[in-house]
Amino acid sequence: YEEQFQEHIDKVQEALENGNMEEFRTEFLEIHPYDQAVFFQQQDEDRRAQIYTYLSPEEMSEILINIDLDDVVEFFEEMDPRYAAMIFSEMPVDDAVDILNELDKEKVVSYLTIMDKESADDIKQLLHYEEKTAGSIMTTEYVVLFEDQTVAETMQQLKKEAPDAETIYYLFVLDNSKRLVGVLSIRDLIIADSDTLIKEVMSTKVVAVSVAKDQEDVAQMFRDYDFLALPVVDFQDHLLGIITVDDILDVMEEEASEDYSKLAAMSNTDIKDDT
Ligand code: ATP
Ligand code: MG
Repeated sequence: YEEQFQEHIDKVQEALENGNMEEFRTEFLEIHPYDQAVFFQQQDEDRRAQIYTYLSPEEMSEILINIDLDDVVEFFEEMDPRYAAMIFSEMPVDDAVDILNELDKEKVVSYLTIMDKESADDIKQLLHYEEKTAGSIMTTEYVVLFEDQTVAETMQQLKKEAPDAETIYYLFVLDNSKRLVGVLSIRDLIIADSDTLIKEVMSTKVVAVSVAKDQEDVAQMFRDYDFLALPVVDFQDHLLGIITVDDILDVMEEEASEDYSKLAAMSNTDIKDDT
């Protein structure tokens, strides 16, 4: 398998070097976004410039969300601002906000000005949350249901909304004042009869995270409860967003490397003390 994979990568590289856009697109878009990101990061500035003209903003956004925050900034700086702005509007809003938080304020403002209004509004809504809190890592792309809709209606709704939701594994139920009153999994939905009301199948004891909670405490809740996503609420239980487990893995990684640096710093002083 590895050999075959390497051959495929060589083909992609060759297509790029020959300036064969058709061939590059066909072969490149077949590989996993993670591998696309690895390939992209191995290219020099000229090749990257070429890739920006070969891929749509949507295709490019898939690659960029697979690159470490520390490394991704320079790529945005070399891009045409209009292309960059379109990438941000295609990206899951939480990923877009993570990257924008790393960029100069002026740059951010200019992207938000060029971008379509709907995406800009979604991003602005998330940009003002304090760093390293639940609010800063949540996303606002999720599926919301009401208690009195039926399972059949919900299935129809999912067909429409699933493509843009960060996850459809859990569905969150709101009352008329947008308070979170229940949750169900897609499994719960699929096994229920189609004329059942959502309020009959949802669970009402919802575990939720408050928006100002420290991200490390949120990570601990994921460890404790084993859910794939958790809802984020304000002090009155209004649903503000959700956090998915893939974003928590990033937090855990960050935490682990911080702890490691501290440890390394400690053992360095130990050595100095001895000498
Ligand atoms: P099960 O483990 O029961 O087979 P599952 O694997 O489909 O279900 P899980 O992720 O384990 O799904 O979730 C179990 C149950 O917990 C689901 O019925 C879901 O509705 C419920 N649930 C999901 N999120 C929350 C939450 N934040 N608070 C309370 N319950 C939740
Ligand atoms: Mg389970």
